[in-house]
Parts: sequence; C-alpha cells; structure tokens
Amino acid sequence: MVGGGIVGLASAYKIALSHPAVRVAVLEKEDRLAGHQTGHNSGVIHSGLYYKPGSTMAATCAAGRKELIEFARTHGIPHEICGKIILATHESELSAMERLLQNGQQNGVEGLELIWPDRIAEIEPFASGVAALHVPSTGIIDFVRVAQKLAELIRGIGNQNRVLTSQEVIHFDKHDFYTNVVTQNGPVSTRYVVNCAGLHCDSVARMDNIEPPVRIVPFRGDYCDLNGQAAGKVRNLIYPVPDPALPFLGVHFTRTIGGSIECGPNAVFAFKREGYRRTDFSLRDTWESLRYPGTWKLFLRHWRYGLQEYARVLSKKLLVRQLQRLIPSLDAEDVRPGKIGIRAQAVTPKGKLVDDFQIEARDNSVHVLNAPSPAATASLAIGEHVNKVATKQFGL
Ligand SMILES: Cc1cc2nc3c(=O)[nH]c(=O)nc-3n(C[C@H](O)[C@H](O)[C@H](O)COP(=O)(O)OP(=O)(O)OC[C@H]3O[C@@H](n4cnc5c(N)ncnc54)[C@H](O)[C@@H]3O)c2cc1C
Repeated sequence: MVGGGIVGLASAYKIALSHPAVRVAVLEKEDRLAGHQTGHNSGVIHSGLYYKPGSTMAATCAAGRKELIEFARTHGIPHEICGKIILATHESELSAMERLLQNGQQNGVEGLELIWPDRIAEIEPFASGVAALHVPSTGIIDFVRVAQKLAELIRGIGNQNRVLTSQEVIHFDKHDFYTNVVTQNGPVSTRYVVNCAGLHCDSVARMDNIEPPVRIVPFRGDYCDLNGQAAGKVRNLIYPVPDPALPFLGVHFTRTIGGSIECGPNAVFAFKREGYRRTDFSLRDTWESLRYPGTWKLFLRHWRYGLQEYARVLSKKLLVRQLQRLIPSLDAEDVRPGKIGIRAQAVTPKGKLVDDFQIEARDNSVHVLNAPSPAATASLAIGEHVNKVATKQFGL
C-alpha cells in the first residue's frame, strides 16, 4: 500500500481483516501518518447531503459515516454528532435549499428539517438568515486519531503486517510475478500494489507505467481561526447554501473536536502539491499542472469563481464580508490566519472536476485516482470497496 493517509490505512485494514494470510505493508513517505489531506482537513463527519443520489459518493458516504462513528465509539476516538445548519441569507437561495433537502432525503440523510429564524436563533444565536436546513447527523472528529488507530489495528491483525513511515516510493521495478517497490531505503518486494498516494496518486500511477485518465491539480484551502470572544459566536457548524456546480466552495464555520472555531477553507490554485505556506512554490508541481490542458480548460470555465477566491485571499476585508453574511456581528479583529489544507482535485483532460471516487485496476495493481471530500468520512467504506476490487483483481 503506497500512502499512509486515511484511505490507504482504511484499505490496508480492510484487506488485512478479510485476508489474514496476506501480508500487508503500508509505505508512507513522511515521518508520520496522515500528514497531508487527512491531517489538514475540516474534521467534519459529513452526512451525505450533497451527493448525487445513486452515485458511489452518496452510497460510500452513507455507509462510511455509520461505520466511522461505530469505529470511533469502539476505540474511544473523540467525536461528536453536533449537527450543522445550512443558512440561506437571502430568499433567492430558498429554492436551492429545497433541492438540497430533497437530495438529502433521497440519500437517506436522517432528521433533515427546514427551519426559520426563531429556530435558527435557538441553534446558532449569532447566525442570521431567512431560513436554514438543519442537519442533525453531521459531526466532528479527529481524522488523524482514526488513521493512527487503523495503523495500530493493521499491525495487530498479523504480526507480519507493517506500517512504515519515512519510506518514499520513488520507482517500481516490475517483474513477471512480483514488483520491487523501490523506496529511498531500498526495495520492498511485493506481489501486488495498491496506490493511495493522495496528492501524488497520478505520479505514482505513472511509476507503474499507467497513464491516468485524470490528473491531480492541487487546490489550496486557507482557514482562519476566530479569536477569543468571537469564538463564542459559533456553537457548532454553520455552512452557506452551496453552488451545485462547485459544492466545495463557500467558507463555513466549524467547531473542531479540540474546541477551536475555524472558518474556511477557500479554494485557490496551489503552486506546490504539499505547500502549507501561502508563498510556497514548486516549479515542478506548477509546471506539471500548467502543462496539462485540463487545468487551462478548468480555469477558463470557472475564471469568475477563481478571481473571487483570489480576491478574498488578498483582501481580509472581502473575506470578513463573506463571513458576515452568516454572522453579521463579526469584524476584522475577530479573525486571524489559521491552518492550510491542499486538496487533490482530479481534473479530466476536458477540464471537468471529477466528483466521484475513481479507482483503476490493472494487472497486479490497483490505483485510487480520486478520493475527494467526503473521503475521510467515507474512508472505511472506500477501504471495503478497495478490498473488493483488490480481491477480484489479484484473486486473493
Ligand atoms: C481542505 C480540506 C478539507 C476537507 N474536509 C473534509 C472533511 O471535513 N470531511 C471529510 O470527510 N473529508 C474532508 N476532506 C477530504 C479528505 O481529507 C480527503 O479526501 C482524505 O483525507 C484523502 O485521504 P488520502 O489517504 O487519499 O490522502 P492523504 O491524506 O493525502 O494521504 C496520502 C498519503 O500518501 C503519501 N504519499 C504520497 N506519495 C507517496 C510516495 N511516493 N510514497 C509513499 N507515500 C506517499 C502522502 O505523504 C500522504 O500521507 C477535506 C480535504 C481537504 C484538503
């Protein structure tokens, strides 16, 4: 297994559980697990409201969230099903909210309710809107703790299973019946390879002589933290009504399991796949993205959104104005820069964002080429799916 994020670990766990005779090794390039997307996300257990009914995304989110909550309960991982509201700040958003309600109901999301200002004031006293969708099944969790627990369980299932850090996979040396997965510390011989390398999954697929049908274009998401008293203005989670074309856009307020209040993230093109400072730049990563025609087509299609997102990066005033749409009493002093996350966004050559999970199986390898949000929520269900694909492909 290449990649020690939550998807790689959940997949290794499911394979180890259902095939105790198979020896599993997870190779992670960093000196710790879950150091990238899994460790830089919003920490939200999604309810499955947004996804197209009948899609793999909707099904895995529903199954995965149930299993995740059970997993967290069993292993004592702090989590909370605190609920969220999606706030319509103008009457023009009501029809989109109605559609969201119907979508959620088709996806079997429990307890959805349209609420009006008096009920909004009870749930989130500082939020202001004409109506809201209350989603009581949304929760918060620490996904890094989940990943660490999965690693512990993988090691415990068979005493020959390994979860190894500081093992960057740089090359595949392929033979008829085995592959030497070469890391900077030397080769690891294996019959089968599963690639869950997140932001690098397309590069790892190319190491395996597979030209992936999609490319990863990294998008940076900046968060802000609410200071002192302002943090008291958010009880749980407050989201705007999303644009169906780009549902991951739109900053929201999230209480983390550690108790702080974050707002964000935005989404701007990242000049480095793993650049967690606003000025980080990698010539190689930027060139990789910009020489791909899909990136330019994506920019052309969504240039208006792109400019708006950049404007909010450059102007705190604009960012605060966006936050004030949900909580009018916030001001600039209430907000300070917070963490940064980078999304592995799979983009087709025609510049379309791939919004469903994508897995390719070839010969003796399986490649997870798109695992966007809510992949952390859905990780155990994705892991089970990867296990089924691997079982069939490898004849385990
Ligand atoms: C800003 C942001 C907010 C999000 N919010 C949420 C949320 O609230 N809820 C939710 O469910 N989902 C959320 N997501 C999505 C979720 O975090 C990801 O979909 C999920 O973490 C993907 O897990 P992963 O294991 O595929 O990737 P990663 O966590 O990125 O793991 C991939 C791993 O592969 C390793 N790797 C890469 N190349 C190599 C190599 N050559 N050799 C060895 N190892 C390698 C990396 O170091 C990394 O640890 C969010 C994502 C982002 C970016």
